[in-house]
Amino acid sequence: MQLGLAAQDGRIVASDDGLTAPLAVRGLTVTYGEKPALFALDATFDAGAMSAIIGPNGAGKSTLLKAVLGMVTPVSGTVHAYGQPVREVLDRIAYVPQRATVDWDFPTRVIDVVLMGMARELGLLRRVRQDHRDRAMACLVRVGMEHFAERQIGQLSGGQQQRVFLARALAQGADLYLLDEPFAGVDAATEKAIVAVLKSLRDSGRTVVVVHHDLATVSTYFERALLINTTRVAEGPVATVLTPETLQATYGGRLAHAQLAQILG
Ligand code: ADP
Ligand code: MG
Repeated sequence: MQLGLAAQDGRIVASDDGLTAPLAVRGLTVTYGEKPALFALDATFDAGAMSAIIGPNGAGKSTLLKAVLGMVTPVSGTVHAYGQPVREVLDRIAYVPQRATVDWDFPTRVIDVVLMGMARELGLLRRVRQDHRDRAMACLVRVGMEHFAERQIGQLSGGQQQRVFLARALAQGADLYLLDEPFAGVDAATEKAIVAVLKSLRDSGRTVVVVHHDLATVSTYFERALLINTTRVAEGPVATVLTPETLQATYGGRLAHAQLAQILG
């Protein structure tokens, strides 16, 4: 591959096709202290695909999403989305953070959480019209939460909260969706509902990128996978990327043979 060779040479290649992709990360290094959380990471995410980001705890998965969104500042490297520096197109990107990191103790109704997804178009005055409300309700219908619109978000189960976060992302009308472990701690029905919504987004040409911790479901949910452990271990179609070698390289000795057998079928 041209890009791979170029990276080894250290030369800059004029025609890096990947840079027009919905998301292209090149040479991304992020450090919090001395040790890098991500090191010289390259990754490309294609349109109309669902991609999984896979790796052990502390591999830098959440950091990758945060760096894309400008929530952490990389030491070096670039992030392009749709051919532009990512900061120019943040309004085309929706983010569903890891649920555990969100504090919903303050009182907020479900419908208002979804309306937050429209913050940019509502503007500073936050003037909510009936059509905004109708669209927010339509997003709640898509995730099966329309009957909870007036409830306080803090009173919902983890799975219900996760559906509301997805509704908020839908309300934004984004083209690229970044989700951080959306299935962690949710019930089976919610997982199914979320997967169905993500697949419909993919089928309409949107790009879906999911940090995913359950190796057993990678091949049923996703077309593509990025395996990382601070650096990139493998990237490509799930069928070619999930091998005993790449999984060992990503997880070290942490995967039992039984797990490997289950993942690889
Ligand atoms: P993952 O999502 O793959 O579990 P993270 O991206 O959250 O990994 O973290 C990668 C590494 O960076 C870990 O070693 C983690 O402890 C460290 N880290 C993450 N966030 C911070 C932070 N805000 N301050 C200091 N270190 C952090
Ligand atoms: Mg994480």
